[in-house]
Amino acid sequence: MKRRQFVGGLAAATGLAACAPTESDCAAGTERLAESFEWSIVTSWPPKYPGLGSGVDNLADYIAAASGGRLKIKVYAAGELVPAFEVFDAVSRGAVEMGHDASYYHRGKVDAAQFFTAIPFGMNYLEINGWLYYGGGLELWRELYEPFNLVPFPCGNTGVQMGGWFNKEINSVADLKGLKMRIPGLGGEVLRRAGGTPVMLPGAEIFTSLQTGAIDATEWVGAYNDMSFGLHKAAKYYYYPGWQEPGPALECIVNRTAWESLPPDLQSIIGIACQAITTDMTAEYTHGNALSLHLLMEDPNVEIRRFPKDVMQHLKSITDEVIADLVASDPAAAKIHASYSEFLRKSVDNQRITEQAFLETRQ
Ligand code: CA
Repeated sequence: MKRRQFVGGLAAATGLAACAPTESDCAAGTERLAESFEWSIVTSWPPKYPGLGSGVDNLADYIAAASGGRLKIKVYAAGELVPAFEVFDAVSRGAVEMGHDASYYHRGKVDAAQFFTAIPFGMNYLEINGWLYYGGGLELWRELYEPFNLVPFPCGNTGVQMGGWFNKEINSVADLKGLKMRIPGLGGEVLRRAGGTPVMLPGAEIFTSLQTGAIDATEWVGAYNDMSFGLHKAAKYYYYPGWQEPGPALECIVNRTAWESLPPDLQSIIGIACQAITTDMTAEYTHGNALSLHLLMEDPNVEIRRFPKDVMQHLKSITDEVIADLVASDPAAAKIHASYSEFLRKSVDNQRITEQAFLETRQ
């Protein structure tokens, strides 16, 4: 039974099959058609938030529709049931059945989880999907979360982010010294080693912190979300590219006990809906960022700038040290990094002569 649940779970996670792979599993699903479930999902996002939040609202809608109303999920914004950064713990201990956040928020608790959101100078959104769904990444993620009683799913991706909003110019590596910036994950550790002060703030607190000067700079997502927070009214310089988050994946986590209480067809529906949200959210960001960036380009109070090359090279070399230290100190991180970096090494050439070469040509 345990093995079948695992196999069924994998099928659901990858969206490869509409139901678990044996006929008896399918029959078990049809026997339980009369059962219905009312669950909750807690998130790290403000209510009705574009992209990150609408992804979760859509997830609940897709699951309700595909299950004929047998699995209804009520969505809670950050702070409504649990604070933004306590989603992982709440779902792990079974206070709620599901959560939606970013795995790099668990830094300090499950350091290796950071590979499943984004690594500075790492995979873009095409590559992380390739690694998670076809390169063994998702299996490693499931193994990492097993002791926490959690079943994780990739669920959404913002695409490459922006470097962020700055009230100080970044003309050289010396300008990073003393810079107080909201930046989570490994990117924050890189900034710290470059002489800055990384700050961890949930999205809803960023605008005020930037406007009052409590922080000098912030990264958040990209033009679409950054404008929705009004960050362009709190800082002048908008730097790119988002070296810290080249293709961050969001996560949907399900409490394992709750997961195992579901019939196989509802498990499959969750897996397939999460995969649909990954596509859907990327589409929303691709569209929203294009329109919002154009507005910012026409705004006389905003200056869009590329980070200087030597600043990027400096941050890249610090990133290599940060990852080497993480790998040396944490066996789980070492195992995941081996898989991540093996695929990335091969993918770099493919991306260079396909996406990158094409985009250069189009310009
Ligand atoms: Ca970000």
